[in-house]
Amino acid sequence: MLIADKKMWQQLMCLIVSCNYNNKLHILSDRLDDVHVTTVLNPPFVALKPNSEKMIGNDKYEGFVPDMLKKLTQILGVNFSINLVKDGKYGKCNHGNCTGMIGEVKRGKADLAIADITISPLRVLNVDFSQPFMTGGITTLVKNPEPNIRTVEDLIANGYRFLSYCCGSTERFFRTSKVSLHERIANNLVKVDSNSEGVDRVLNSDEKLAMLIEESSAKWHASQDCSLKVVGESMNSVGYGIGMAKGIAVKTAEGVFEVRTLIDHAILQMKYDSTLELLESKWWPKKC
Ligand code: GLU
Repeated sequence: MLIADKKMWQQLMCLIVSCNYNNKLHILSDRLDDVHVTTVLNPPFVALKPNSEKMIGNDKYEGFVPDMLKKLTQILGVNFSINLVKDGKYGKCNHGNCTGMIGEVKRGKADLAIADITISPLRVLNVDFSQPFMTGGITTLVKNPEPNIRTVEDLIANGYRFLSYCCGSTERFFRTSKVSLHERIANNLVKVDSNSEGVDRVLNSDEKLAMLIEESSAKWHASQDCSLKVVGESMNSVGYGIGMAKGIAVKTAEGVFEVRTLIDHAILQMKYDSTLELLESKWWPKKC
């Protein structure tokens, strides 16, 4: 099938009828006219505009994700409504019950989860993910480290304590990894309720603190306050994907398409036309 014609994509995405494909497929309902996106506030992915209380709907938000959604609308011909995840969480799964954005898409409360959501081993058992739209790894953020501190080992040797967001893939990684450096960090880990709280503590505490934080967020915070520095190499590699209920599909005159395929198409297109690169340079300015 030729997919170059945008109009045809619009028709494809709008021609939603119920289907029994594979019995397992959920049906993305007529909500596809207005795809319900669940997300979380974490700048520069998603932030409230300074005057957001005077705005309604998507206009309240700014950042990499709202911009990416505008581009997805152009490519796929559907509109998206941005909603903040009710419990403020990314998502943990336990015996098939998931919290956060992962839980909302799994339970059909939202169609897509779009944020800096890490594609992780437990999550892929519970929801489908698109290809990554961004990759990176876990790094450490430290306030004005001494020049002799260049690696994470140096931080340990100099008595730093480590902070990590309580409820995401970073904390999980350190509890899972069998690398002895990571195990040592895990034994010395203080949990905080958000990345911003961790960064505030690094900036304002008299203690020697290092925040374990994914590269994308680390770089953004370091660009907002030049006393913050990223120390050492990334300790793993992660990808952020768009999450959705397993097997959701649309049936069209051309056949049944998994929504994941359509989203992958759009992500690859945004890679090929450099949209993603341009958005990264817009939202991650090199200030320091
Ligand atoms: N990206 C993480 C997740 O999806 C959240 C932030 C973190 O854990 O560093 O859970």
